[in-house]
Parts: sequence; C-alpha cells; structure tokens
Amino acid sequence: MDQNLVTLQQWIDESSNIVFFGGAGVSTESGIPDFRSVDGLYNQTYAYPPETILSGSFFAQNPQEFYQFYRDKMLILDAKPNAAHKKLAELEQAGKLKAVVTQNIDGLHQAAGSKAVYELHGSVLRNHCVRCKKKYPVSFIAESKGVPYCPDCGGIVRPDVVLYEEGLDADVISGAVSAIRKADMLIIGGTSLVVYPAAGLVNYYRGKKLVLINKSQTGMDSMANLAINAPIGQVFSQIVVR
Ligand code: ZN
Repeated sequence: MDQNLVTLQQWIDESSNIVFFGGAGVSTESGIPDFRSVDGLYNQTYAYPPETILSGSFFAQNPQEFYQFYRDKMLILDAKPNAAHKKLAELEQAGKLKAVVTQNIDGLHQAAGSKAVYELHGSVLRNHCVRCKKKYPVSFIAESKGVPYCPDCGGIVRPDVVLYEEGLDADVISGAVSAIRKADMLIIGGTSLVVYPAAGLVNYYRGKKLVLINKSQTGMDSMANLAINAPIGQVFSQIVVR
C-alpha cells in the first residue's frame, strides 16, 4: 500500500462523519460513459452534441430526438455497482459515512445499499407525467416507443433528471450543503469538478480532511489535503471498513 492509501485509511478510521461527493468517474467503472471525458459520448456520432440534446429547450422542441438519444445512451439498465459504490454503502452501514452527494443519475449508490444519497442531477429511475404528475418507473420509458405519453392524461412522461438549462432541486441542494458543512472528512471522487453549481458545494466543507480521488489530475488537486490519482474503484477496494 502506498503512503497516500495509508493516509486515506487512517483518516477514514479516525472519522465518524464522512461525506462523499462523486462525479461521472464513479460510474465509468460500472460501464456508464462519462460525458466529459475524451473517449466519452462527445466523440460519438450523433446529429447534435449530447449537451444540446440533453437541454431543456431541445427536449421541449425535439422530444422525438431527445428520447431516441436518451434510450440509446442514457438508459444503461444492466449496469451494476462497482467497488466504490459498495464500499461507500458499507461505510454508511458502519455509521462512519453520513451522506453521498452525487452528480450521477444512474441510481447505483442506492443499488449498492446506500440510503442517504443526494442526487444533484436527479435519477433516470424516476419519471413523471409533466401534466398530471403521475409517477412512472424507468421500464415505462425503456419499453415505450418514440415520445412516451401518459395513458391517463396524454401528457409527456419525462425523467426526473435535471437537463442542461434547468435548475437543481432546492431541497436536494440544501440537504447536500448541510451534510457537507457538518462533515469531518470530505472525499471527492471521479469528478474534475467542472460542473457548477455542484462543484461550488465543496466550498461549504470546513474540515481539514479534504480528499480528492480522480484518475487524472484535476485543477483542484492543490487545494486538497490529500490527492490520489487512481481509478476510484481501485482505491476503495483497498479500504478496510472497521
Ligand atoms: Zn398524466
């Protein structure tokens, strides 16, 4: 074990109010593509870049194309939690970790057993009719063709996912801020911290154990108390929960 991992283990052992803040890199090891990485979706051929398709205005104007892309690229329903998701759930179970704040929309933290999860960008697993607000499971979207309409009222059924141009949920934000404020250790993983306002949440942390775990270096490495440049699942698989 290298010195960074020894320090990480020691800090986890000492802490009782850990918060984990995760980005796309947490799910890439489960086979979910990262929108911003160079080998991610931006390099794939589609009529528009993902950032355009996944925007509120595009959804309103071109729901047909939105759902074609969405079913094709966003609904990866056979993905399984990896070592990072599992270890975080174990740390919560042991009473050491108080919350996971995530930018991911895949529900893999809950699938691994985590209970306190703040999903900043929503979840593909929850869907609702924009007109009558009736809730629908992800299977309704996956199994429908074209634009999914509510059988009850004819409104469009859409995922509870925060699209580009849309605001984050105020309750989710305040829950995440409160958890980060109280944290005695903040572990940030799998994100280059470029997504605002989510990235700004990190500024609410007041402790001295700010850990950054990312495959490649981030612009924030220097402000961390500990920076580990390695895949997050690989790092967490070596952590012992005690
Ligand atoms: Zn409806």
